[in-house]
Amino acid sequence: MVSVKSAPPERPTMECQTEHFLMAQRQLDEIALEMGLDMELHERLRYPKRALIVAVPVRMDDGTVKTFTGYRVQHDTTLGPAKGGLRYHPEVNLGEVSTLAMLMTWKCALMGLPYGGAKGGIKCEPWNMSVGELERMTRRYTSEIINIIGPDKDIPAPDMYTNEQTMAWIMDTYSINVGHTVPSVVTGKPVSIGGSLGRHEATGRGVAFCVKKAVAHFKIAGPSPSVVIQGFGNVGSISAKILHEFGFKIVGVSDVFGGIYNPGGIDIPRLLAYITEMGKVAGFAGTTNVSNSELLELPCDVLIPAALGNQITAKNAPNLRCKIVVEGANGPTEPEADLWLHKNGITVVPDILANAGGVTVSYFEWVQGMMHLFWTESEVNTRLEEIMNRACDQVFDMCTKTGLRPRMAALRIGVSKLAEAKRLRGLYP
Ligand code: NAD
Repeated sequence: MVSVKSAPPERPTMECQTEHFLMAQRQLDEIALEMGLDMELHERLRYPKRALIVAVPVRMDDGTVKTFTGYRVQHDTTLGPAKGGLRYHPEVNLGEVSTLAMLMTWKCALMGLPYGGAKGGIKCEPWNMSVGELERMTRRYTSEIINIIGPDKDIPAPDMYTNEQTMAWIMDTYSINVGHTVPSVVTGKPVSIGGSLGRHEATGRGVAFCVKKAVAHFKIAGPSPSVVIQGFGNVGSISAKILHEFGFKIVGVSDVFGGIYNPGGIDIPRLLAYITEMGKVAGFAGTTNVSNSELLELPCDVLIPAALGNQITAKNAPNLRCKIVVEGANGPTEPEADLWLHKNGITVVPDILANAGGVTVSYFEWVQGMMHLFWTESEVNTRLEEIMNRACDQVFDMCTKTGLRPRMAALRIGVSKLAEAKRLRGLYP
């Protein structure tokens, strides 16, 4: 193949090219230019391979029928079946789903998983729907996308406002339609129907492994580095629990209702018991209440945004007082803030590395399902640690060798692996 050095190509108009998607494309363009990626390969990576939009009519509890819009986007399938979550949110749109599908491609390639990237979503307000309505919506959506999903094609998993129960409904609907039980059509399902031990904790555990590696690599001194965590759901609370067990000092945490701070360290096991009773972190004994914006600006060694996207912005980045940011959430740092932090000596460990523990154990779940042979929780955790450590070493070594910031180093590794596979497979016909 003739290799033509990459330059940012002309920008054709495609329906998925929202502001969100253009940002992801610009990141790819930047790294393609930096690594001298073949221009034709670069162009092929800039768009989703396949995008499906479906109408999802649902009988509501009051007897009326409401039609929702659903999406499933497969960005790439060069390395294996597409893999990615399914989210229910009013802001879901083709651009957002396509952006997240592209990030899944880079994440899976970076982690060395035999998957391409996908994402799905339904535009809805799940908090205003009953369990019955959610079940009927999930089942109808599954039947509308059934031709493009499957254990060898595309494997959904939970994301925002979807969970193990959602995956069980998808698995059941798919299985009934093909006439036999197919657990491996989804991951993140309950253990009783083929889920993996350790999957529920995997993202938070992966974040904790990543923090440990980053603190050692970036030489953050002291026996118990201090940590602030925004978001205390699945990712945030489990990262806190495991980092506390590793000997880190968790000084601040928050949820949607607000945050708490204690510079001397928060007793995480007691806080977890408190939340079970009170449903929020605010008011926990021995801590001071802080707002979510104040929380991000607390002095600490490690800041872990583990709630929503776009939390660290050009406006608040200059106020951060951490040494490193480890992205538990997807896309918590806006591009402008990311550059500002880099230029001002605050390292950002990117989401495609830091929160990849979830998809890694999803891969283990898929493998166990295909083999019909299940692993112990400690086997799962040991293998997760190996893969997270290997990926962290690769990214941090790339930073040292090239001077790239971790986000671009991670992207470069992911894009290189994919480009190499595409080059070897060639172009059909
Ligand atoms: P979750 O719903 O379990 O928890 C979200 C937490 O964020 C809750 O504590 C909630 O109270 C808090 N929150 C919501 N709005 C907030 C606000 N405005 N300010 C502060 N806190 C707020 O979700 P999760 O599964 O922990 O996911 C968190 C993030 O991690 C998301 O960006 C998700 O896409 C990403 N992620 C999750 C996984 C996974 O396996 N769960 C994997 C990869 C990435």
